[in-house]
Amino acid sequence: MNQQPYYVGAHVSASGGVQNAPLNAEKIGANAFALFIKNQRRWVAKALEPKTIEAFKQQCAAAGFKPEQILPHDSYLINLGHPDEAALQKSREAFLDELKRCEQLGLVYLNFHPGSHLRTISETECMAKIADSINWALGQSHGVTAVIENTAGQGSNLGYRFEQLAAIIDQVEDKSRVGVCIDTCHMFAAGYDIRTLESCAEVFDQFAQIIGFQYLKGMHLNDSKGGLNSHLDRHHSLGQGEIGLDVFRFIMQDDRFRGIPLVLETIDETIWPDEIQLLRQFAAGVSV
Ligand SMILES: [Zn+2]
Ligand SMILES: [Zn+2]
Repeated sequence: MNQQPYYVGAHVSASGGVQNAPLNAEKIGANAFALFIKNQRRWVAKALEPKTIEAFKQQCAAAGFKPEQILPHDSYLINLGHPDEAALQKSREAFLDELKRCEQLGLVYLNFHPGSHLRTISETECMAKIADSINWALGQSHGVTAVIENTAGQGSNLGYRFEQLAAIIDQVEDKSRVGVCIDTCHMFAAGYDIRTLESCAEVFDQFAQIIGFQYLKGMHLNDSKGGLNSHLDRHHSLGQGEIGLDVFRFIMQDDRFRGIPLVLETIDETIWPDEIQLLRQFAAGVSV
């Protein structure tokens, strides 16, 4: 039985340097966090300085964050399934650069959105390109697992069905360094009804059969402004959107979600301490 703790936190700011992220996470009572390791809207960033790397590691150790409690997120510009060869190569180089930054920081995961076909190639071709990109980048890096996030299926973004995530994993050579992160908002917007404990049980059984919990490396806990199957990527605070609280109750009372970062990306960061508290109450079986 999985008796690891629940790791709960939020995607915190790393402004002023990555070494500030663990401090920001500690302030909100988190024992997990996500961060951007470089500016998420730029292609290039200067190399991490040794003193920044050292400070990051020290702050993580001081606040008790182990690498498996941290889920870095890559840049939004990267498209590992880009139909154009030159643009694809640019994305691959940027992704590899992020993997290497994670490696330098002693981190073990890199969370990213799979990619989009931009309506010029088929979904199948795009998924093959994404898998090739992952193989290419993993072949040139060490120790960091590529963690594919499910999407809301907005625009031409792939990864909105469990089958698509499974198809990508299937084509990755090193299965020990690929995983998934499931975002509850994206899942709901993509058409998975997770509004009741019963429907959550069904949906996560599908997940177990199609992908497998051995690949689950993290969760993004978000309510959704958009409705079921809306394909809108619009996060909301827990219990204030279209999904409601049951899915979060379900997750915090199911051992399969222990030992991985469970990360809030909800819209009102002033209430993150309360949301974390609420999640811990669910885990403790307190009826809220
Ligand atoms: Zn994401
Ligand atoms: Zn997310």
